[in-house]
Amino acid sequence: MGRMHDINRETANLLSTAPDPGSAIPDLSFVIPAYNEAETITETLTRVSRKARRLVQHAEILVVDDGSTDETLSLVESGHWEVPVRLLRLSRNFGKEQAIMAGLRHAVGRAVVILDADLQEPLRYVDTMLEHYREGYEIVYAVRAHRDDESWLKRRCTATFYRFLNFGSDVPMPAGARDFRLMDRKVVDALCSLPESNRFMKGLYAWVGFRSLAIPVELQPRGGGSTKFSFPRLLKLGMTGLTAFTDWPLRMWTGIGMVLASLSILYGLFLAGRTLFLGHDVPGWSTLAVAIFFFSGIQLMSIGVLGEYLARVFSEVKGRPGYVIAENTTISAAPEC
Ligand code: UDP
Ligand code: MG
Repeated sequence: MGRMHDINRETANLLSTAPDPGSAIPDLSFVIPAYNEAETITETLTRVSRKARRLVQHAEILVVDDGSTDETLSLVESGHWEVPVRLLRLSRNFGKEQAIMAGLRHAVGRAVVILDADLQEPLRYVDTMLEHYREGYEIVYAVRAHRDDESWLKRRCTATFYRFLNFGSDVPMPAGARDFRLMDRKVVDALCSLPESNRFMKGLYAWVGFRSLAIPVELQPRGGGSTKFSFPRLLKLGMTGLTAFTDWPLRMWTGIGMVLASLSILYGLFLAGRTLFLGHDVPGWSTLAVAIFFFSGIQLMSIGVLGEYLARVFSEVKGRPGYVIAENTTISAAPEC
């Protein structure tokens, strides 16, 4: 039996999760988002399919091509892999969070592993994850053992971001957690059932709960290519995370407003008293100018914060899906020799 291409274009429901009737349910699905990873995708799939075959009886790999403009797609299509590979081609670049969601919605395994396509995450940790999964953990996730490879500025920004994110939050979101993780089907179903389309996955993994275990991982340098997360992209993702998981930036203005109003009343009383007892006082324009600048700044900031949350509400209200699937192809495993 030769290698088979089963092209199954989804038209009825782009977000369908239904498995093929009659097919055996895989024990493990690997979800691999890939955006312009031509330099590493072949090696990634070779290693993952070999690992998958060794670990479980039935495995599947879902590669989510997030609008790549290089050879990523054709390399996946033309490769010979040891386990069935499903290729979801998104109609354009929707971002890693959406690519992961597309993969999770189409994964049918009893457990799902999310993995990057850049060879940074050593596969030996999947063995460890599986061991802990068998002990009863429903999420086993990777946490960076250290961040020595990152600049001081990036480390500080990340730490500050997580401090903001976790401030007053009921569900602590661990700094340094990766998307690299193994999740039980129950967890994947819970994630897929959430209606929001702007997703900050690291927050959602924590939000859904379940018995979770962090394992420290030593990351490798990228196997090729370069990071897809520029500073503006990280900032955008950070804003999505903050607006999705906090409300204190919205509420704090009530407190700040009350404090400032009280101080203004006290200052007004002081000025009135001084004028009454010490006579008319003309100088004071500098106080006025400083006050105007200060309060204008405060007002613009508070309107800006409102705007961030409003933008998120606006985007959710439009109800557009987070991604569009252009093609859903199943690439059968190469027959055994
Ligand atoms: N990725 C993606 N869509 C994007 C950006 C990234 O699918 O818009 C994928 C990318 O191909 C890789 C993974 O997400 O498999 C992690 O990306 P990257 O290595 O650039 O992130 P970093 O490791 O630098 O945080
Ligand atoms: Mg990477």
